[in-house]
Amino acid sequence: MLLKVDSYVGGRYLQPAEGHYVDKIDPRTGEKMGEVANSGPREVELAIQSAADAQPAWRDMRPSERGRILVELARIIRRSEDRLGALESAETGKPGREMATLMDLTAQYFEFYAGIVNVMDGEVINQGPNYHVYTRRDPFGVIGAILPWNAPLHQAARAIAPALATGNTVVAKPSEHTSASLVELARIAVEEAGLPAGVFNVVVGKGSVIGPVMARHPLMRKISFTGGLTAGQELGRIAAERILPLTLELGGKSANIVFDDADLAAAAKGATTAFTWNSGQWCAAGTRLLVQENIHDRFVEKLVAEVAALRVGPEHDATSGPITTRAQFEKIQSYFEIAEREGLKPAIGGKAASGDHLGGGWYIEPTVYTGVTNDMTLAKEEIFGPILCVIPFKDEADALRLANDSEFGLGAGIWSRDIGRVHRVAASLEAGRIVVNEYSGGFVQTPCGGFKQSGYGREQGIDALSHYTQLKSVIIRL
Ligand code: NAD
Repeated sequence: MLLKVDSYVGGRYLQPAEGHYVDKIDPRTGEKMGEVANSGPREVELAIQSAADAQPAWRDMRPSERGRILVELARIIRRSEDRLGALESAETGKPGREMATLMDLTAQYFEFYAGIVNVMDGEVINQGPNYHVYTRRDPFGVIGAILPWNAPLHQAARAIAPALATGNTVVAKPSEHTSASLVELARIAVEEAGLPAGVFNVVVGKGSVIGPVMARHPLMRKISFTGGLTAGQELGRIAAERILPLTLELGGKSANIVFDDADLAAAAKGATTAFTWNSGQWCAAGTRLLVQENIHDRFVEKLVAEVAALRVGPEHDATSGPITTRAQFEKIQSYFEIAEREGLKPAIGGKAASGDHLGGGWYIEPTVYTGVTNDMTLAKEEIFGPILCVIPFKDEADALRLANDSEFGLGAGIWSRDIGRVHRVAASLEAGRIVVNEYSGGFVQTPCGGFKQSGYGREQGIDALSHYTQLKSVIIRL
């Protein structure tokens, strides 16, 4: 059956005024799998108005009561994990086996913020006996969540859960390539978990049309944006005119550093996951692998063996699925041409994957280039696909110089058994999130965000609460 995706506003589905839909293509086959509403300014207006109308009552509810509804939503997410996961797997192409982890994380965001909001408070500031001074954290009002296609429910939950928990209402805009799972989440929230209609709305359509309308709307009070640099910059320009607060979670070109004292077998496995998880469609993917030169050749041999063992395909238990959008599939392939022009030869991979079981799907062979230097295009630009650049380094200082020589600063990995070195390097890396002796994501309680062009503001953890509330001081003369 073909999928039909409409917006969900004020507790009901909303069709686009002009009746326009765009085709949704199945990344596993290249064939049409449904239609997605191509909404415009009218739908954005209705969604923001609906969120603004619902906000005062939601804001004034006791935090424990808001938390109770969000915990109920988490419980339903867990109960519906198979169905929601299958929907997301179908529209992204992700191997089914990955969905259990992502659905668990999605539920965890609602559980975490539902609980923590009960202890979120201001402070009393001593100004002597003639004053009573305190601070409080107020919600912004209507918050926009503009979201990418690489992990739709996970990215949505990490913005929407803290926004709702702190008394804001939300207008979410999923990627036009992966909207169905978020619309279903909003429906479940309202119709099954008891979230008041209008508190959580989803507008479906093209970001270049809807995003600027959301950002310019006078009732929109803050936007949390997760996506690429170009769209982030465009939003930033509009936000500057309106003094609209933004959280920007942008891209990366994260360094993963392997020192000669590391457990090389574990590092080879970790370095493989770092650039191939989700077929490389991961903002914090470790795509610049810095390897100490005295272990370089030995390590590359282990790495290539790990990569050769990956299974690309549409199967439930494949290690890599397809690329989610055709544009991204084509963009990744353009980097194979750039690599050739810059004199690089792949140690493994280097082209789109083909085979009878892959049909017309958008699959890429996991690819490793050795002999890369940090000034090459492949080492500088975010590709958002399973392409790894291996760059040798001499010593700790050289590793740090190379790692920090990037416009981005999202994640970084360190592989070493020397605890002193680990702390020194972690302190000097210009990145928002450092992982040592594994390369993983998925820590709901840990802040996530970028240095430099990887963005500003933080999602996840307790710190995110300060990005979804504004601090107010109350000064009382006694
Ligand atoms: P994208 O920037 O193309 O789109 C992201 C969202 O912005 C989509 O909903 C899109 O419709 C919307 N959009 C597009 N143009 C817009 C505009 N002019 N104004 C407002 N909104 C607009 O990104 P993508 O291709 O969906 O996702 C890939 C990018 O997202 C990568 O760069 C990746 O690194 C980044 N990302 C970052 C994180 C993080 O946590 N830092 C997480 C996931 C993805």
